[in-house]
Amino acid sequence: MTATLALLKELINRPSITPDDAGCQKLLGEYLELLGFTLEPMRFGVVDNLWARFGTKGPLLVFAGHTDVVPTGPVDKWTSPPFSATERDGKLYGRGATDMKSGLAAMLVATKNFLVAHPNFKGSIAFLLTSDEEGPSIDGTVKVMDTLTARNEKIDYCIIGEASSEYKLGDQVRVGRRGSLSGKLTVFGKQGHIAYPHLTINPIHLALRALDDLTKTTWDKTKSDAFPPTSFQISNIHAGTGAGNVVPGTMEVLFNFRFSTAVTHEDLKARLTEVLTQYQFKFELDWTLGGNAFLTTPGKLIQATQAAMKEVVHLDPILSTGGGTSDGRFIAPTGAEVVEIGPLNTTAHQVDEHVIIADLEPLTQIYQRILEKLF
Ligand SMILES: [Zn+2]
Repeated sequence: MTATLALLKELINRPSITPDDAGCQKLLGEYLELLGFTLEPMRFGVVDNLWARFGTKGPLLVFAGHTDVVPTGPVDKWTSPPFSATERDGKLYGRGATDMKSGLAAMLVATKNFLVAHPNFKGSIAFLLTSDEEGPSIDGTVKVMDTLTARNEKIDYCIIGEASSEYKLGDQVRVGRRGSLSGKLTVFGKQGHIAYPHLTINPIHLALRALDDLTKTTWDKTKSDAFPPTSFQISNIHAGTGAGNVVPGTMEVLFNFRFSTAVTHEDLKARLTEVLTQYQFKFELDWTLGGNAFLTTPGKLIQATQAAMKEVVHLDPILSTGGGTSDGRFIAPTGAEVVEIGPLNTTAHQVDEHVIIADLEPLTQIYQRILEKLF
C-alpha cells in the first residue's frame, strides 16, 4: 500500500462531518510535526483550524484544504459504510474520498518526499487546514487569513487540493472561481379586493416588468475570456394570500448572481437598484455576499503546475473557473497565486463517493513536482 493510500484511509475512517474535525487535524498535525513543521492550532467558535509552517524565509507556498465532509445521506444506500474506507474494483470508497481527503493525503506525502530530497530548499511550506469549508465558512479559512494578515504573514503561492479534474486526473486546474451574491427583494403594494383594483396597488404587476428587465441586463463591464458571462437568476417568487379575490400587499423575490471579475458586487448592487428605481415602486433589498470572484493570472505557480502535469500525466490542463465557490476566495484577495488541483470531482457529495486508487500516486507526484519547480 502506498503512503498516500494508507493516510487517506485513516482520514476517511474519521467521521468529520462539518464542523466536527473528528481528529483529522490531530493526525495530520502529528505527521507534520515529525517533518519539522511548527503547529499553530486556531480554534474559532466550534471550528478547528490548523496553521503549520516549515521554514521562515520566502517565498511561502501553502497547501490549503478542509478536513470536514458533507453528511452521508441515507447510510443504507451506501454499498459499504461511508466512514469505513473500502477498496473495491480499483477504487477507494468512503465519504471524503474525493472531497477532499485524497487531496490532503497526497499533499502531506508529497511534502514529506520533497523535504527528504531537498532539505535545504529556499523558501517555506505551510498547511492551512480547516473543518468549516462545507458549512457556513465563517470560522474557518477566512479567520485564519485574518490572523495571518494581521501579523503580516504573506502567502505567495497556494495550492488547494479540491477535486478539480473532470474526466481524467490532471485534465483541468481551477485558476479562479466566480463570485456569488444573493439578494431578497421585497416589493410593496397595497392589499385590497380584486374587484376594486383602483383601491389597491398590485406588487406583482409592478415587479414583473422590472424582473423581466433584470433577466435581460448585461452585467459585465467588459467581456471576460476566463469566465462565462455574469448571470442573474431568480430562485423563488412569493406573493399572494392564497385567496383568489385578494390583491396581495407585498411580493418577495429571491435571486442570485454568479459573477465574473469583470464586475464587482458593489457594481451589481448599484446596477440592480438603478433598474428597480426606474419602475417607481416601493421596495427593499437584503444582500448576502457568498464570495467574491477571483482569478489567478498566469505566473510562476500556473507555469509550474502546467509543467508538472505534463510530466506526470502527459496532459495540458484546461485552466478553468467553473464550479461553485471555494476557500480560494479568502486567500486570493491577499495577492497569493491560487490554483486548485485534485482528483476527479464526479462523485463529490454523492452516495458511494470514491476515488480511483491509481490516481493517488500521480496526484502526489504532481504536488511534489510543483514544489521542486517553485523552489
Ligand atoms: Zn471540498
